Amino acid sequence: MVKESKAKATGKAKAPAASKKKEKKLYTVIFFHKWCKSCGLCTALCPKKIIKPDEIGLPFIEAMDRCSGCRFCEIHCPDFAITIKERHPERRSTNGKH
Ligand code: SF4
Ligand code: SF4
Repeated sequence: MVKESKAKATGKAKAPAASKKKEKKLYTVIFFHKWCKSCGLCTALCPKKIIKPDEIGLPFIEAMDRCSGCRFCEIHCPDFAITIKERHPERRSTNGKH
């Protein structure tokens, strides 16, 4: 009689090894410029240095894909003018809505 493997005998097939490379999470930084008073805190605190002021001092993101999602800017904005959302590019488009 042919000896069955343990996995076959228990009915548990071994799953293929998962990819070891961890996918980088992506974030979208949303500014509510009507609430922003151009204090520059978010620019000063961002550890990635990706928040820059425009010519009138309103913040914008220079390289969105470099955002780590740390939320320092969102937490420290005195006017609640920043929201961080995780981005899922593999999901269907939201037509610009978040
Ligand atoms: S911390 Fe808030 S109020 Fe200050 S510049 Fe940034 S978004 Fe505007
Ligand atoms: S969430 Fe963190 S890395 Fe992203 S823009 Fe804000 S402070 Fe910078």
